[in-house]
Amino acid sequence: MLNLIIYGAPGSGKGTQSDLIIKKYNLNHFSTGDILRKEIADNTELGQYANSFISKGQLVPDDVVIGMIANKIDSLDKDKNNGIIFDGFPRTVNQAVALEEMLKVRNLKTDLLIELIVEEEELINRLLLRGQISGRSDDNLETIKARLDVYENQTKPVTAYYEKLDKYKGVQGTGSIEEIFERITQVIEQTI
Ligand code: AMP
Repeated sequence: MLNLIIYGAPGSGKGTQSDLIIKKYNLNHFSTGDILRKEIADNTELGQYANSFISKGQLVPDDVVIGMIANKIDSLDKDKNNGIIFDGFPRTVNQAVALEEMLKVRNLKTDLLIELIVEEEELINRLLLRGQISGRSDDNLETIKARLDVYENQTKPVTAYYEKLDKYKGVQGTGSIEEIFERITQVIEQTI
């Protein structure tokens, strides 16, 4: 059982690296961003509500995403669960506390939070490029800047929370996808 949090600013490569990690370690991938975008695409009530925050670069309220993650954990087949990678969650200390609590009551725990460290200029360039390719409505300059501000002010304190638990590891998130994955694998191998 291996429960990981992949953490980093928007554009740091969490989704790309998650895809590689889940294949190598046979993990379940819970991405709050992906779940919310699916709700938006399906035009559900939750999707419309979430989009009113996402389109402005703001965080969706904690209770919504915490509930979504709890449902995902409970939907797993316990006998076949090799572990989970949490991608884009937790994004506030409140969410981190809720995650640790919901895992504890289910006899589970996080093993590690891995931060992908990328400087701001590179993040903006990556997100603008992604916006051209993927057409994601929140990958435009105004919303990108709002998301980076939210990250600095609301999400950054999550690292101190995991440092205190002695579960924090930072890796350089620049270079080729393979190079970054190699660094991540090394950190995981030191833990398991
Ligand atoms: P992402 O794909 O992880 O970059 O998420 C895209 C957007 O979805 C974010 O900018 C937030 O508006 C929203 N979102 C995703 N995960 C969370 C979360 N854990 N808490 C609050 N909002 C979230």
